[in-house]
Parts: sequence; structure tokens; C-alpha cells
Amino acid sequence: MTSPTLEAEIRRRIEIAGPMPVSQYMALCLAHPEHGYYTTRDPLGWPGDFTTAPEISQIFGELIGLWAAATWQSMGAPASIALVELGPGRGTLMRDALRAAHVVPDFRATLTVHMVEVSPVLMGRQRETLSGQGVPIEWHQSFDDVPSGRSIVIANEFFDALPIHQAVKLSNGWHQRVVEIDKVGNLAFGIAPDLLPHFDVLLPSEVRDAPIGAFYEWRNDRLALELGRRLARDDGAALVIDYGHAQSAAGETFQGVGKHTYANPLVAPGVVDLTAHVDFPALAHAAESMGARAHGPLTQAEFLHRLGIEARASTLKAGATPEQAIEIEHAVARLTDPGRTGMGSLFKVIGLTNARLTSLPGFELES
Ligand code: SAH
Repeated sequence: MTSPTLEAEIRRRIEIAGPMPVSQYMALCLAHPEHGYYTTRDPLGWPGDFTTAPEISQIFGELIGLWAAATWQSMGAPASIALVELGPGRGTLMRDALRAAHVVPDFRATLTVHMVEVSPVLMGRQRETLSGQGVPIEWHQSFDDVPSGRSIVIANEFFDALPIHQAVKLSNGWHQRVVEIDKVGNLAFGIAPDLLPHFDVLLPSEVRDAPIGAFYEWRNDRLALELGRRLARDDGAALVIDYGHAQSAAGETFQGVGKHTYANPLVAPGVVDLTAHVDFPALAHAAESMGARAHGPLTQAEFLHRLGIEARASTLKAGATPEQAIEIEHAVARLTDPGRTGMGSLFKVIGLTNARLTSLPGFELES
């Protein structure tokens, strides 16, 4: 499957307007309304491009459903609450969360689910996965369309899919990295000739003394600011799970992912997934600047241990065949893998809440 039309569109834009910032390239590749990667396919699982935690084991969504119920209780069990998921993929996490929430019927009875999804293909999948759940469910294209009110927001592997900007440090300062057409007519990375104005002032202190040749990546803060503003104004909590760094740092993490392996992000626009690590301190800082409170980050392994992943796995294994029991063990090992590139350590979890919530389930020791 190729998407020549998107590549043609990107080339046309570069010819008219000049090299485009990496952020614009990433936004077009992922979310172009006709040819974008997410707009045109379901990329999850086999034979897709990547597998996410809820697709590895039902336990992941179940633990998050119980976390949401416990969070609702710590908010004082309000009479109505929006359970919002950003970028819900196939709807698997929400299905498993709603099933687990049966153990707290009062929580389930107060829920309205809001799914924020840009992809019509995945929205269709989510409708199938969630049919007959017995809770009201609404779909929205953007978080801005979710009605105001108390909310619990979940985002697993969502922020990494939002466009990043890249800057490169040259001898005279930081320059924007761009996508251009090279001498032989291929899409290639380039460096904008003009300096990014006052960029040093905006950089986190850890990055200011980076050596020449260093990269720095950042995302538009708009969504994190809006999340913080809502939590501060309307009450509630958000859980963000993604691969990324617990400390802001220089470095290049922009990558393509196709068929479960890394791909050159410029070779097949709209056909491979594009992602970059999430800068958790930047996310927390943006939400805090709007009056919210941040909890964590913790590693995914630590968070899942605290939510009781081992106990839940034992319960499931007790009712499983020997083959299923082995699958459950493998899934738990994968989700909590502490190796440098294992999901348990690469993935981080952060909580964002209204400032009155001084402790949040799973993060208690951190607050
Ligand atoms: N959370 C899911 C899927 C992760 S893939 C899981 O863990 O399995 C990223 C998801 O975000 C997809 O559903 C994709 O369509 C959606 N998405 C990507 N960019 C988006 C945007 N700008 N607005 C809303 N949804 C987006």
C-alpha cells in the first residue's frame, strides 16, 4: 500500500512554500484528512505496524478501569463524570476498563464515555468493540469538542503521535530542522538558514549547554495547556502513558515504524507511523502552568506493580488453561520489562489532576 498522492502533495507544498518544518511534515503524514496514516487504516496488532499495551493483555485496560474508579472515589464520588479517552485505537482499553468497572457499579452508573479520535477507520472499530456496553458513549474529533465538566482522561500512546518540532544546534545557535527536496529529487532533512529567535531562553536548563550538532525536540503545548485548564476549572484527573523521558534532554527520537520495525520517516509519507518520545516534564509543566497538579512520572512497570498487576494475573491464571497461563505470564513480563528498551522502563506514566487532589491512586508515594 503506497500513498503517492500524499507524497505529491508534500512535494507540491515544498515547491510552492519552501522547506517545511518537521512538525508540519509529521502532521500531514499522520492526520491528513484523506491520505494520513491514521486517517486511512487500523495500524494495530498483527499484521499491522505496532502493538500497544491494551492489545498485549486485557489486564492493562482492566487495571486502568479500576484506577479510574478509585480516582472517582478519591474525588468524592461525584454524581456524574466524563471518562475521556484520547486516541483510543481499537477501543480495547476502554472495553476492558468498562468491564473491570462492573465491580464499582456506582462509578459505572455515573459515567459518560467520550472517545476523541481523528481516524474514521478506528472510530468504526471502536464502535464495534464498545457496542452493548450499557453506558452512553460519544465520539469527538478533538478534545476541544468534549463538553466541559468533571472528567477522568486517559491517553495511552497518544501524545507520541502529536507532531514534534526539531531544532539543531549549529555554531551560531539553534536552527529549525526542515524537510526539503534534495539535489537528486528525494525528500531529505535540511536545516533552516535563519536562527530560531530567542530560542535559548525557551530551552530547559538541561539542554542549554548541549554541544554543537545536538537535536532538541518539542511539541506544541496547546493540548497539555487545555488539559490543565480543564482539570483546574472543572475538577478531575488525567493519566498519560507513553514512551518518553522523565527528564527533558537533548536528542533525536523522531522515527518511522512500519510492520513492527523502524523505518525511515521520509521514505513513505502516510504509509508508516511517525512518532517521537514524549517529554514528560514539559507536559507536566504546561498543565501546572494552568493550575493543575502533576503526579509522577513513574515507569510503567512501577505503576502496574502498584496497581496490582501480579495479583490480577494470578486470578486470571487460576481460571486459565496451561497455554493461556503461559500467555498471561509472557504478557505481564512484556508490559513490565525493566530492560532499557523494555516497555516497563521505556514507558512512563504521569498523573495530572485538579490541585485539590493531593494524592492520586498509584502515585501516592510520589505526591
Ligand atoms: N491508545 C490506543 C491507540 C494508540 S495509536 C492503544 O493504546 O492501543 C494512536 C491513536 O491516536 C489512534 O487511535 C489514532 O487514530 C489517534 N490519533 C492520532 N492523532 C490524533 C489526533 N490528532 N487527534 C485524535 N486522535 C489522534
